[in-house]
Order: sequence, then C-alpha cells, then structure tokens
Amino acid sequence: NHKVIAIDGPSASGKGTVASRVAAALGFHYLDSGALYRLTALYAQKQHIEWNDETGVTKLAQSLPIVFEGQTVWLDGEDVSEAIRTEAIGMGASAVAQLPQVREALLQRQRDFLTKQGLVGDGRDMGSVIFPNAALKVFLTASAQVRAERRAKQLGSPCEGVAFERILADIEARDEADRRRPVAPLVQLPDAELLDTSEMGIDEAVKKVLDWYGK
Ligand code: C5P
Repeated sequence: NHKVIAIDGPSASGKGTVASRVAAALGFHYLDSGALYRLTALYAQKQHIEWNDETGVTKLAQSLPIVFEGQTVWLDGEDVSEAIRTEAIGMGASAVAQLPQVREALLQRQRDFLTKQGLVGDGRDMGSVIFPNAALKVFLTASAQVRAERRAKQLGSPCEGVAFERILADIEARDEADRRRPVAPLVQLPDAELLDTSEMGIDEAVKKVLDWYGK
C-alpha cells in the first residue's frame, strides 16, 4: 500500500515520537498499536481478568470501548492517557500480546485505522503482520542504555542508580519477551530500513524516514 509506513522496533526506541511526527508531516493518521495492547491490559485489570486468561482477555479485546481523541485516550468514558503509560501496564501489554487470539481480535481494528488519508503505524508487527504491503518499513532501534535513559526521562527518574538499573532490566526483559514469543515476534525484516537512533536527534530521524518515503 503506497500510503502506509510501518515502523517497528523495541520499547522506548523513540518510535512513537518519530512515527507521529512523520504522520503529521505527511498529513497521515498515526496508529500507536502498542496503546491497543496497553488498553487491553488495563481493561483486563479493571475487570479483574488475569492477563494470561486468553478467553477472558480476548472477549475484552473484541469489544474494547475506546476512543482516540488527539493525545487523549478514553476507555469506557474514562481518560486513561496516563494510566496506560506505566511500566506495570507495559508489562501487562507484553503479557496479553503473547496470546494469539488477542492479537487476532485486534488485527482488523488496526487495519481499520487506514483511510484514504494514509497511515503511519508503530509497533512490533506493523510490517510483518498488520501491513505487510506497506510502502516503507522501518526498523527503529537504539542501544538498551539509550532507551533506558529515554524511559527514565519520561518517568522523571534519574539516569543512574538502583531505579535506573531497574528500568534498564525491565526494558531488556520486555524486549526479550517480544523477540522470543512464537506469535508475531519482533524481528528486523529483510525489507525494512534500519534506523538506529542511539546517537541521533528526533529531527534527523524524522527526516531520514521522510527521505526514504520519497518526500
Ligand atoms: O510500544 P509499547 O511499549 O506501547 O508496547 C507495549 C507492548 O505491547 C510491547 O512490549 C509488546 O509486547 C506489545 N505490542 C505488540 N505488538 C505491537 C505493539 C505492541 O505485541 N504491534
């Protein structure tokens, strides 16, 4: 599809920022697919369904009462924009994302984000499963150290010490889980451009993607 850009990569690599900036530059929609897994995990928690209960979580994923409105995400009428960003919900997202039926339940929902306007999607399987015919696929990454520093800054936490080591360990654990799972694992596709942002600012990363896309 000539109006789809798929950006995949590990957590805290800066995918979200780059993807939404690219979308804004092109006038495309932006799909934060990780938010759907985070919303599913949060909804399960609220409904007292265990994250490994495939049948229970799948039912919730099939009928997620969500609305995206600019930067705000609503779940069942409640603003959960911040609640879905915690490390705990990130772990929950990673857990529910291992369940094949949950991924299946969220598949069409993700494709529905594509309209005539065009779409930039970010996640782990945008290029491999959701939009295999994307015009451009990017594998966006950065070293674990740099990603942990970015996450620490987001959380307003220091970039050294015990708390930092914890963030680094969590990031590495989640990446391992995402790379090793049997369904839709995080992989660097042979037809994806590699963008390592360890020593690159956001502007430069956005420009690279736009250049590859041919804009
Ligand atoms: O990108 P984000 O950190 O919000 O994603 C949270 C979790 O959701 C990831 O660790 C991953 O397990 C899962 N995910 C996924 N497929 C996607 C997007 C996210 O499995 N397309």
